[in-house]
Amino acid sequence: MDIFPISLKLQGQVCLLVGGGHIAYRKAQLLLKAGAVLDVLAPAIEADLLALVEQTQGRFIQAAFTAEFPMAHYRLVIAATDQAAVNAQVFEVCEAHNVLVNSVDDPPHCRFMVPAIVDRSPLVLSIASNGTSPVLSRQLRTQLESTIPHGLGKLAEFSGQWRARVKAQIKNPEQRRIFWEELYASPLKEQVFYGQQAVAEQMMQQALTDWEMPKGEVYLVGAGPGDPELLTLKALRLMQQADVIIYDRLVSEPILNLCRRDAEKIYVGKARSQHSVAQDGINALLVEYAQQGKRVCRLKGGDPFIFGRGGEEIEELYAAGIGFQVVPGITAASGCAAYAGIPLTHRDYAQSVRFLTGHLKEGSPELPWSELVYENQTLVLYMGLVGLEEICAKLITHGQRPDMPVALISKGTTPEQKVVVGTLADIASKVKEHHIQAPTLTIIGEVVRLHEKLNWQSIPIA
Ligand code: SAH
Repeated sequence: MDIFPISLKLQGQVCLLVGGGHIAYRKAQLLLKAGAVLDVLAPAIEADLLALVEQTQGRFIQAAFTAEFPMAHYRLVIAATDQAAVNAQVFEVCEAHNVLVNSVDDPPHCRFMVPAIVDRSPLVLSIASNGTSPVLSRQLRTQLESTIPHGLGKLAEFSGQWRARVKAQIKNPEQRRIFWEELYASPLKEQVFYGQQAVAEQMMQQALTDWEMPKGEVYLVGAGPGDPELLTLKALRLMQQADVIIYDRLVSEPILNLCRRDAEKIYVGKARSQHSVAQDGINALLVEYAQQGKRVCRLKGGDPFIFGRGGEEIEELYAAGIGFQVVPGITAASGCAAYAGIPLTHRDYAQSVRFLTGHLKEGSPELPWSELVYENQTLVLYMGLVGLEEICAKLITHGQRPDMPVALISKGTTPEQKVVVGTLADIASKVKEHHIQAPTLTIIGEVVRLHEKLNWQSIPIA
């Protein structure tokens, strides 16, 4: 983080604008909104700006800037002249006096930057890009302007009025947070938005009277194959409301970053070599946290019900009488296939698709071989590279054509996705030529031929 966002209280604080033209006027309007007292230092001043200065009980100091000007007198300074050299000099003098300074449109001469603002006072959102892209910040502001209700400021104000009373009644901070979250999800919000103050007050009082310790529950959530944009809206909502996140190795870092920031995050992933980390332990953890009244998000790669042991986990919850819900995710087969341009079914090549995972028995995968050797069927193998060579050989032994196309997708849907294409006869050796990283998914079938044409991920954007 190259900049540190803060929210400055400027009511009654004397701030200086160097410059008396329209650039200074724009900044003055903002400072005025925040209640600052404005002094303007400039040889001449526009009438509009002078009016603002007078409105704040500030002074117009008619002079050119010099290094002797008493900068230390000011809480904050904005250099808004149309001369870069003067602005730079203002910056130097302010720095020497430890006064916060911004020089308009000149990031190297700024101690602070003025962000793009979404004003829902008392709620104020600021978006800053450290001077790299004001356009991007403004674009984001426009997006937020259209999605953040205008009444949200009223809601913040209303909450502020009740904060102390809620704190006095619900002592536990964790429970208090849940109280507010539930309140914001209730019809009270709308009442505040539409200014129905009396109704809202009554609802609030009722909510406080009725408040009781929430029951814990578990959300079994599919996080998809890697790309965070493949999360469902429901997954995201639950990830952001859970108190505890229990996640696997397959849950990518960017997805984890979308979880509630102050949720407790517990990693229970296991490397292949340490398969002994007991599923029982995870099940017990889910039960334990839920019994403490926590909302637990069990976050799993892909879809929790596809080779995800999701069933076992919720059986345990069911037995312990704990409430749960299941949120499907995009499974690796769908994600990898889409991002590699390999349709899993296709009128000309495959009318069925079969998802498989191979358990190794004495080093050999156990699969119903004769059922796998069909024309017009796509096979998707959910497993790592171990056993791939043997599976291909076995399929050939059981009658599959050695030139049947095979694609191996590594880290599908992530920026590091790699696709290796070959045939049953040569895919294993081709994979060895590349530095392939887990997780990997293998697709076997005629549909793989379409990859060459439909590989949209690698098509250069004109
Ligand atoms: N529940 C998960 C699958 C868990 S089994 C789902 O629905 O996707 C783990 C296997 O999934 C891995 O060994 C790998 O074969 C596959 N896999 C998961 N994510 C993947 C990805 N991003 N790229 C390639 N394969 C992946």
